[in-house]
Amino acid sequence: MVIIIGAGPIGLATGIELKRKNIPFKIIERGCLVNSIFNYPTNMTFFSTSDKLEIGDVPFISHGPKPTRSEALEYYRRVAEHYDLPVHLYETVKTMDGEDGNFTIVTNKDTYHADKVVVATGFYGQANMMGVPGEDLPKVKHYYDEPHIYAWQKVLVIGGGNSAVDAALECYRSNAEVTMSVRYDTIKPSVKYWVKPDIENRIKNEEVRAYFNSEVKEIREHEVVLDTPDGEVTIENDFVLAMTGYHPNYDLMEALKIELTEDDKCMPVYEEDSLETSTPGVYVAGVVCGGMDTSRLFIENSRVHADQIASDIKEKLG
Ligand code: FAD
Repeated sequence: MVIIIGAGPIGLATGIELKRKNIPFKIIERGCLVNSIFNYPTNMTFFSTSDKLEIGDVPFISHGPKPTRSEALEYYRRVAEHYDLPVHLYETVKTMDGEDGNFTIVTNKDTYHADKVVVATGFYGQANMMGVPGEDLPKVKHYYDEPHIYAWQKVLVIGGGNSAVDAALECYRSNAEVTMSVRYDTIKPSVKYWVKPDIENRIKNEEVRAYFNSEVKEIREHEVVLDTPDGEVTIENDFVLAMTGYHPNYDLMEALKIELTEDDKCMPVYEEDSLETSTPGVYVAGVVCGGMDTSRLFIENSRVHADQIASDIKEKLG
């Protein structure tokens, strides 16, 4: 028996490959199916074309040149149904213990025993906190939803990457008064090339106000205090969209004694071919493999993990 933790695209893909090899498995998911994609901005469009998001050879045809969030949700539901995948939804893995051939996995609902464990938990569940006073106010969000909420409101978008830029532009176009606080002196060079000139021009034309080289110092009920190169600035504020990134859940990796790299990427150590970690019998799959470097892996370039892992497990379990 193999336990896969996480029903994201890569957890599902791994299940499909195990099924093809007649290896029994269960997928444990703490939220809904493809929970991370469900929590993406409502109007998001993938940067990948739909064929690059396909798993299990199930065709994914989108209406536009790039698929939308809702098309992806429908697609992965269809895949799970087609392969009749044993997915346990709304069940969170709390702790794990044991060794190769004899793992115990405890969830909020049940206890499972497994020969092998695949950790496919992504990173989107854990937002990077700024650690400033007021960050816990209800008006502060680490997950951007949709622009209509912010019409005619004073919105501070924190960050200079893709998520921040998308949120700033959408809110600006929905009549919000948008200010950006960016830690560096420019918008990140990695922002999608078809979007970057748009935000740069909005800033140049003062349609979106931006404080570069700034950091948030304090968030209050109706204002935010920024540290800027010109000193402290207090701006009026109704909502804060803190697009400050995400990080993997290291507690689970710790429970399984998975070794991590000692650099700032803090990546799980694993075999390139098999994705088996330093703990025999425990595999990592999908974007969790990138550790803190959350932009290195995505669906397109990590869906191959599924076949690598299933092949290794087949070889070892016979
Ligand atoms: P996830 O999809 O994050 O799945 C992990 C799952 O594990 C989650 O469902 C989570 O709920 C579950 N989980 C976590 N902890 C536990 C636990 N303790 N117990 C049980 N379950 C748990 N990639 C592309 O290839 N192309 C794109 O165009 C693209 N666009 C993107 C746009 C945005 C806005 C974002 C944020 C990401 C985008 N990505 C894109 C990245 C891609 O969506 C993610 O890389 C993908 O979801 C990763 O798949 P995964 O299966 O590795 O992890």
